[in-house]
Amino acid sequence: MPQNSMKHEINKSLWKLSQKTTPLSNILEDEIKTDIAIVGGGFTGTSAALRLAEAGVDVTLVEAKYNGFGGSGRNVGLTNAGLWLNPDDIDKAIGKRYGDHLHHFLASAPDLVHKLIEKHNIECEALRNGTLHLAHSERGLKAIEKRAWQINARGGSVMVTDQAATFKLTQAKNYLGAIHDMRAGTVQPLEYCHGLSVAAKNAGANIYTRSPATNVIHKDGKWHIKTPKGMVVAEQVLMATNAYLEHVLPAIKSTYTPLYYCQMATSPLTEEQLKNLLPGKNGTWDTRMVMRSYRTDASGRLIIGTIGNIFKNEAPFLTSWADKMIADTFPQVGPVKWKYKWAGRIACSKNHIPNLHDLGSGLYSVSGFSGRGIASGTAFGRTMADYLIGKISAKELPLPFMPVEAVPFNKIRELFYETGCQLSRAYDHI
Ligand SMILES: Cc1cc2nc3c(=O)[nH]c(=O)nc-3n(C[C@H](O)[C@H](O)[C@H](O)COP(=O)(O)OP(=O)(O)OC[C@H]3O[C@@H](n4cnc5c(N)ncnc54)[C@H](O)[C@@H]3O)c2cc1C
Repeated sequence: MPQNSMKHEINKSLWKLSQKTTPLSNILEDEIKTDIAIVGGGFTGTSAALRLAEAGVDVTLVEAKYNGFGGSGRNVGLTNAGLWLNPDDIDKAIGKRYGDHLHHFLASAPDLVHKLIEKHNIECEALRNGTLHLAHSERGLKAIEKRAWQINARGGSVMVTDQAATFKLTQAKNYLGAIHDMRAGTVQPLEYCHGLSVAAKNAGANIYTRSPATNVIHKDGKWHIKTPKGMVVAEQVLMATNAYLEHVLPAIKSTYTPLYYCQMATSPLTEEQLKNLLPGKNGTWDTRMVMRSYRTDASGRLIIGTIGNIFKNEAPFLTSWADKMIADTFPQVGPVKWKYKWAGRIACSKNHIPNLHDLGSGLYSVSGFSGRGIASGTAFGRTMADYLIGKISAKELPLPFMPVEAVPFNKIRELFYETGCQLSRAYDHI
């Protein structure tokens, strides 16, 4: 889908519509000087801002819309460790030294998220009861066993639950087993992002919303970030815009392929229905190529998700698909009504590993989270903050800086992903 499809966006997002806190609102209307500027107010940007402000650095964050407008306010809310890739595949892609470093860095990232939530009293429905990666077939079971083995060989302690134990936790039919990863849990992601922003602001960060960077230029030894009504002049800049980058530095956009993930949620279900639906309250997703996710929220709403775009219309096809998925997977729950519908954009990097870019003269970017960005965005934001203030060297970063290189045949890759997802859902209907 072209990125301007956002103008047809359906964003009846559960996270937005159930948000209890009031989003920060503060338009930049001045020219201000700062040590470090951050562009983008998702997990990465707000986590970096928090770390910098706590270190006593003068930091200014500009966000185009509101904090959490991007992937951070639209995701499933699984505070997972690691990436979608298996650890051995990460080693193959970036070598053993960086592979090990990245693995340990991301294995502890859910700890960081849940500690920040506790430290800053962030009310975001946080649960840390483990996530379930469900095997939908014999092949899927082999795949999760392989993944669990690779994680545990690196010091992890994930469990593979058998069919009966998986059913007990989920009441979901047709799954043969799961990885139960106790490192992870679930959050209301928009509230988590809001909480990080407030923590950063309270620590002294300047946070501006509805202030898109429309130009980023280096002039007289400093970065000048223009917004519609103001300007930030900074020594260094961190671009934390992931799949939602707009207006500036289009070269970064070419380093990932946008892939959409859509979700629908019900009103709160009855206690009787909830006995038959994820009684362990775990966030789940499965081993299908076009994966499905199921979770509930603190009010007992069921949330289903899958890969693909529902920005275009009221998504009737997706609604009937979701009805069928619930009838097949949780037949005891009975028919449900989908009140919330929304989608978000994932930035799939060329090798599904995040991209760190050093663009020169103090301009940096982190993007390409490839669908795993709650814990990893929080951790990368923090570690980039440490790098910018010289607390760690480039060698101590969990990934090397990479040149800005466009994903080959990016439009075709995008079309291939979206068409594949739609065809798979059509097949599910048969
Ligand atoms: C539907 C969906 C489900 C997902 N599920 C999960 C999950 O369960 N677990 C998980 O770990 N990850 C998940 N992810 C991935 C995760 O949400 C993202 O990787 C993460 O939110 C990225 O955070 P970020 O801060 O880097 O970027 P974002 O949250 O996208 O923030 C970027 C911000 O930059 C702003 N911006 C862009 N251009 C400008 C500009 N010129 N000036 C100022 N601001 C600008 C945007 O408005 C946006 O707010 C999911 C993603 C999606 C879309």
